[in-house]
Amino acid sequence: MGFDAVRGPDTYGSGCMPGCKRMFEWFQRTYDAGSLGCYNPASLGGKSLHAEGRAMDIALDARDPHDRERGDAIFAIVMAHPQVFGAQEMLWRGYLWSWQRRGEGKRGPGIQQADHMNHVHLGIDVDAAKNWTEDWLEGLELDDPEDLDMDGNSLEIHVVHALEEALRNSDKVKLLLARVFLDALKSEQGQAALREALK
Ligand SMILES: [Zn+2]
Repeated sequence: MGFDAVRGPDTYGSGCMPGCKRMFEWFQRTYDAGSLGCYNPASLGGKSLHAEGRAMDIALDARDPHDRERGDAIFAIVMAHPQVFGAQEMLWRGYLWSWQRRGEGKRGPGIQQADHMNHVHLGIDVDAAKNWTEDWLEGLELDDPEDLDMDGNSLEIHVVHALEEALRNSDKVKLLLARVFLDALKSEQGQAALREALK
């Protein structure tokens, strides 16, 4: 469970595998997301889970705050309950998670390979790709996206987001800097960085 090596196009038939298709549709419905496709035999020269029809590209725009929140919610729920989805690998706005290295939690931000700004990529194992139905979700509670803090204590990402916004609307600069400061105070890493800066 959780990991099946890529064998290449049409190993399990062609097209999006039936369980993968059902799960993909469920994500689109539940998170009001779009589709950038599932099956692509040519993806990575046939070495992608898309080539076997067991990966889905859930379309959300990481640059849009509302979309980003929903993408983060998908990432968080899958990472918290990988067995429920048969999750094998997941990529989203510089974050990477894999079943094989699940002990490390999410990796990132800033991972080049995971630089997916217009969709969440979710690849699943063969069992889920064949058999997944909504019954697998029984007992699962979907977290309120408002409560999720994908970027955790990463001071760097807060600063980057704040500066991006500040550049768009210079009137907000003071407010945004205040927010970065307050966010930074919530984390040990941030506190250390501030102490260093204020020396
Ligand atoms: Zn993909």
